[in-house]
Amino acid sequence: MERVTEWMRRRGIRYKEGVSGGRLTTFGSGGAVRVVAEPKADKEIADIIAFLTTGGVPYRVLGGGSNVLLPDEDYDGVILRTARLETFSVRGTDITVGAGVRLPVFSRRCAALALSGAEFAEGIPGTVVGAVYMNASAFGSGISDVLRSVRLLYGGEIVTLPASALPMGYHRGGLPKGAVLLGATFRLTTGDEDGILERMRTFAARRAATQPRERSAGSVFARAGETPAALLIERTGLKGTRLGGAELSRKHCNFIVDMGGATTTEYYTLAERVRHEVRRITGVTLAYEVEFIKC
Ligand SMILES: Cc1cc2nc3c(=O)[nH]c(=O)nc-3n(C[C@H](O)[C@H](O)[C@H](O)COP(=O)(O)OP(=O)(O)OC[C@H]3O[C@@H](n4cnc5c(N)ncnc54)[C@H](O)[C@@H]3O)c2cc1C
Repeated sequence: MERVTEWMRRRGIRYKEGVSGGRLTTFGSGGAVRVVAEPKADKEIADIIAFLTTGGVPYRVLGGGSNVLLPDEDYDGVILRTARLETFSVRGTDITVGAGVRLPVFSRRCAALALSGAEFAEGIPGTVVGAVYMNASAFGSGISDVLRSVRLLYGGEIVTLPASALPMGYHRGGLPKGAVLLGATFRLTTGDEDGILERMRTFAARRAATQPRERSAGSVFARAGETPAALLIERTGLKGTRLGGAELSRKHCNFIVDMGGATTTEYYTLAERVRHEVRRITGVTLAYEVEFIKC
């Protein structure tokens, strides 16, 4: 790994060593990560990936870390954070963003331009491209409604694909395996700024009323067909169950929250207990919406 950090140092790439995984995700669990790099341009991330791939060094790309749990074990690899890839450009009703732009920033900047279609993103703590990766949605609309194209690093090349080429499904962005998203272009519709802001306030209020304030990774399980996972979980009576620092939220039982020092193992063990009970009582096997990263 010294070879990797020496290479980054010589090129002026920003990186840190021995970063606690808890600082990289919204839930806040996870062991130490050997190297976390924060490229500042597409070319830089492409060069890093080429270097790591040639050297057989394991790596993962993370955005806001709001849909993932890192393992409790230390990770002897590189995490590439997209936080500094924050370009934002406007052309008529088309908005093109870099991989590091956050969803709330996206929705607020669109609102300020009186562009409608990104209101759903208010209050989702991830990045816009993380939302493309898993086809995020909320309150009846989502990223696939406005996505025009994605810019990808794939097989060492930077390519642009139209949204129509992605087999997007429920919580599935349909990206080619191993592709790294560098950015995306969205087409919004012209609207009225006050109306857009009003919808965003309504969504924020609904979130505040129904979702926990503690640290979480968002919904644990995906909807089962048309049935919200929370409705099935309610029937288990497990709401409020605690395992170490992890608790099945009393406010919204499809959230597992950190009540202090929760580990990924505690989260997973509690989630599996919920899944088992839902299956026993309702016959439905819930699928995970959160992703357990295997480094
Ligand atoms: C409080 C809370 C509320 C939430 N509400 C919602 C909601 O209403 N609707 C919803 O759909 N989701 C919701 N989420 C889940 C999550 O915020 C979204 O799915 C978000 O879009 C994930 O983006 P991220 O940048 O955090 O992705 P991350 O968690 O960082 O990554 C998710 C996956 O995408 C991959 N990835 C990230 N960036 C790239 C890239 N540049 N190239 C290739 N792969 C990449 C990662 O490797 C990982 O596999 C919520 C989460 C929280 C904590």
